[in-house]
Amino acid sequence: MDVVIVGAGFAGLSAAVRLTREGARVLVLEARSRLGGRATAFADRETGELVDNGQHVLLGCYTETFAFLREIGADRHVSLQPNLGVTMIDRAGRRPRLVCPALPPPLHLLAGVMDWNALGWADRWSILRMAAPLRIARRALEPGAHALAASPGETVERWLMHNGQTPRLREMLWEPLALAALNQPIGQAAAPVFARVLAEMFGADPRAAAIALPTKPLHQMYAEPARLYIEARGGSVRTGTTAKIRAEGDAVLSVDAAGERWDIDTVISAVPWFALPDLIEGRVPALEPTLDRARRMESSPMVTVNLWFDRQVMDEPFVGLPGRAMQWVFDKRTVFGGDASHLSLVASGASPLVHLENDALIARAHDELLDALPAVRPAKLVRATVIREPRATFSLAPGQPARPATATPVRGLFLAGDWIDTGLPATIESAVRSGHLAAHAVMTK
Ligand SMILES: Cc1cc2nc3c(=O)[nH]c(=O)nc-3n(C[C@H](O)[C@H](O)[C@H](O)COP(=O)(O)OP(=O)(O)OC[C@H]3O[C@@H](n4cnc5c(N)ncnc54)[C@H](O)[C@@H]3O)c2cc1C
Repeated sequence: MDVVIVGAGFAGLSAAVRLTREGARVLVLEARSRLGGRATAFADRETGELVDNGQHVLLGCYTETFAFLREIGADRHVSLQPNLGVTMIDRAGRRPRLVCPALPPPLHLLAGVMDWNALGWADRWSILRMAAPLRIARRALEPGAHALAASPGETVERWLMHNGQTPRLREMLWEPLALAALNQPIGQAAAPVFARVLAEMFGADPRAAAIALPTKPLHQMYAEPARLYIEARGGSVRTGTTAKIRAEGDAVLSVDAAGERWDIDTVISAVPWFALPDLIEGRVPALEPTLDRARRMESSPMVTVNLWFDRQVMDEPFVGLPGRAMQWVFDKRTVFGGDASHLSLVASGASPLVHLENDALIARAHDELLDALPAVRPAKLVRATVIREPRATFSLAPGQPARPATATPVRGLFLAGDWIDTGLPATIESAVRSGHLAAHAVMTK
C-alpha cells in the first residue's frame, strides 16, 4: 500500500478515491462496522428500512462533492432541483413558496424574495440591503483577497440585523438557512462562515443555491460505491478496525489496527476533531498544539425524529417549518418511493432538545407537524424513532480554536475531515474538499 487513510466518511473516502484515480494503492481503515461516518444509514429494527442517521441535503454549490460522486458513478443517487425552490410553512399555517427564477445571481435571490408572498413590502425591500455584503463575500473568495463581509466576533444574528434584515425575513429565510448550513443558532454562530456559505450559494451559477436530496440511504448513496471504486483498482477498505497512528519525533512510523501493523510513511487522518487525540500514539511534541485545539473544539448536536404514518401526508419532498423546534420535514418517499409514509423531522443546533426523553421529542415533532400540515390530522402515527447526534458538527461560535491545515509538522501525516480549515462549516462539501486537499498534498509531497 502507498497510503493508509484512517476514517471512511466523506473526507476519507474522497481522499482515497482521488489517490486511487491518480494510481496510488490505498488502504482505508474504518472503526465502525459500516462506512459513512456521520453520513450513514442503518436498518430500522421494526420496519427493516435503511434509515439515515439524519437527513442530509446537498447544495448545487457542492462542486467537489459532485465531482467525487461523478468519479464513483454515484451522481445519479442525488436529485438536484433546477433552481432554488422551497416551501416554508409559517407559524400561522400559510405555505408561501420561495422560487428563485433563472436570472444571474444574486438577482435570482433578490427577484425571488421580492416576489415571495410570505413577506410584507418592508421585508421584501430589506433583502436589497444584502446585495452589498454578498458582493463583498463573493470578492473575498478571490485568491489573495482581503475583503471581509463580516467581522469574526459578530454572530450571524447581529450581522443580519446590522444589514437591515427584518425579523420576519430573518425568521422565514435566514434563520432556517443558517441553521441548516451551520447547525448552530444564529445568536451563537459567527457570521464570517455564513457569509462564506452565501458567497458560494449565490455565486456565478444560479443553480449553486439549488437543493439536492439523496435518493438512496446515505451509505449506499456514496460510501459503498466509493468502496467498489477503490477495491476495483487494487485498494482495500476495511471496517471494524480501530486504527492507531504511531509516530515519533517528527515522522510517522506505522499504523496499527486489529492486531496488524503497516510500516508506512504516508498516512491521512480523516477522523473528526474529537477522535484525533486518541488516534496518535507516541511522542510527537510538534503535534501537541493541533491535538490541544482538537480537544478544545466544542460540538453542536442534531436531533432527528422519524415518524411513520398509516398514509401519505406530504405532497412535496420537503418543507421548511420556520419558528419551530424542528425546522425541516422531509418525505422519505424521495428515497423509498411508492407507498412509503415515513417522514424525517430535523432539529439543527439542537442543544435545548438533545437531552429530552424520546417521548417528549416525538410528541413535539408530531404536534408541530399537526399544526403545520392539515393532512397529518386524520393520519395515524404508527411508529416513531429518535436519533441523536450529540457531536454532529463542530461549533462555529466566535472564540473557538483555529482549524488546522492539511499538512502537519509530522512528516507523512496529513489531516482531512470537515473540521480542517476549508473556510466552510461542518458539511459534506467541507469534508470532500478536505479529502481532495489531503490527496493533493500526498501527491505533491
Ligand atoms: C444528523 C446530521 C445531519 C447532517 N446534515 C448535513 C446536511 O444536510 N448537509 C451537509 O452538507 N452536511 C450535513 N451534516 C454534516 C456531515 O455529515 C459531515 O460534515 C460529514 O459527514 C463529515 O465527514 P467526515 O468524513 O469529515 O467525518 P466522519 O463522517 O465523522 O468520518 C470519520 C470516520 O472516522 C472514523 N474513525 C474515528 N476514529 C477512528 C479510528 N481510530 N480508526 C478508524 N476509524 C476511525 C469514524 O468512525 C468515522 O466513520 C450532517 C451531520 C449529521 C450528524
